[in-house]
Amino acid sequence: MRDTDVLVIGAGPAGCVAAWEAKRHAPELDVVLLERDRAVGAPVRCAEGVGDAGLREFAEPDGAPWVARKITRVIFLAPDDTEVKVAERDVGWILDRTRFDAFLAARATAAGVTLLVGTEAAGMSRDADGRWRVELRGAGGEETWRARIVIGADGVEAMVGRWAGLDTRVPARDMESCAQYVIEGIDFDPDAIYLQFGERIAPGGYAWLFPKGPGIANVGLGLVALKADGRNARQYLDGWIARRYPGGAKTGYTVGGVIVHATIKAAYSDGVLVAGDAAHMINPLSGGGIVNAMKAGRLAGQTAAAAICAGDTGAGRLCAYHAAWMELLGEDHVRYYRLKRALEDVDDAFLNSLARTVNAIPLEKRTLGRIFTHALVKHPQLIPVAARFFL
Ligand SMILES: Cc1cc2nc3c(=O)[nH]c(=O)nc-3n(C[C@H](O)[C@H](O)[C@H](O)COP(=O)(O)OP(=O)(O)OC[C@H]3O[C@@H](n4cnc5c(N)ncnc54)[C@H](O)[C@@H]3O)c2cc1C
Repeated sequence: MRDTDVLVIGAGPAGCVAAWEAKRHAPELDVVLLERDRAVGAPVRCAEGVGDAGLREFAEPDGAPWVARKITRVIFLAPDDTEVKVAERDVGWILDRTRFDAFLAARATAAGVTLLVGTEAAGMSRDADGRWRVELRGAGGEETWRARIVIGADGVEAMVGRWAGLDTRVPARDMESCAQYVIEGIDFDPDAIYLQFGERIAPGGYAWLFPKGPGIANVGLGLVALKADGRNARQYLDGWIARRYPGGAKTGYTVGGVIVHATIKAAYSDGVLVAGDAAHMINPLSGGGIVNAMKAGRLAGQTAAAAICAGDTGAGRLCAYHAAWMELLGEDHVRYYRLKRALEDVDDAFLNSLARTVNAIPLEKRTLGRIFTHALVKHPQLIPVAARFFL
């Protein structure tokens, strides 16, 4: 039996930041970070896009080796292929997550965190004195660690929350199945990300192209299986690529799930905090979760360290983590979720006509606010959708 103060399970963005923050907040504490894969950051199951402002809260992207591409434009594609450009400024970045996640982990270890790769948490139970005993499986065999606080940052297939008795169930309509290729040798604007919606393209989700460099991109889509016509995400994606980006070389392939639901009802329990995808802290409209995971990890790490230093790791104290998250982003996600559900009723014909409405606004005046107002005036059927967002 080995002891630690904080045991973080999962070295993705949420776990790396949580471990780093816990150690920074209270350097005297022992913080251990577990990763079941043999290398942090691999395999990549992500399109790797992040917004500029959110990323800068955690790291400086200019010239960083973990950045693949700076993005200055977003191009929406209506179902009938009408292009709508909406931004012409510093929009965001495409990361190289193999390097980015490794960078976050290295920063945590430099602060004094112990990182164990190739080590999986296989179960956990409560001690008589209230600590958690976590069973680990690794190359060296099995061992048990005892922790005052466990942070579950174990991603979309999360188990820590369930082991702690939290309700982490996801309705089937809120689970997107994704497929993605890395494709080389295709033609696109390397400064832009492309997003295409449409019932026949990606039912319940969207297709994307995120550039990693000139001629090379992450090309994928996410869909809700309940809305699909029997084909899986890869089959839809193959169809999309054959139509829009034929002739490229597919040099990588990945699949994964994205939970497009609001945050779980309680992301804490006695001696347990859950952060990132594991707590459904993904933007339900965009499916983006990297920056959210880091923000939640920061709150979880700080809360854990402060609770241990105060000698109180009970749910009564840890609930402050959940409240802080809901105030920071969780309440917004509830509104985005309502908007997502309301938008489920719009069809391809509507999206095609909305694209033409937006294209009538001069590019330099095409702010999100103007697009929204114009859309409401020209398409009054959007008013109940907007109302659901604001009420
Ligand atoms: C196809 C696809 C495209 C996406 N594109 C984007 C995008 O462009 N932008 C964006 O912001 N988000 C995107 N996302 C979502 C994004 O990847 C996640 O929101 C983000 O990675 C969440 O970070 P996390 O730290 O919570 O979880 P993860 O990054 O999933 O990290 C969890 C870690 O925990 C480890 N782990 C799991 N169980 C255990 C265990 N029992 N013991 C030890 N370790 C364990 C896993 O191996 C993993 O490394 C995409 C997702 C998919 C599937």
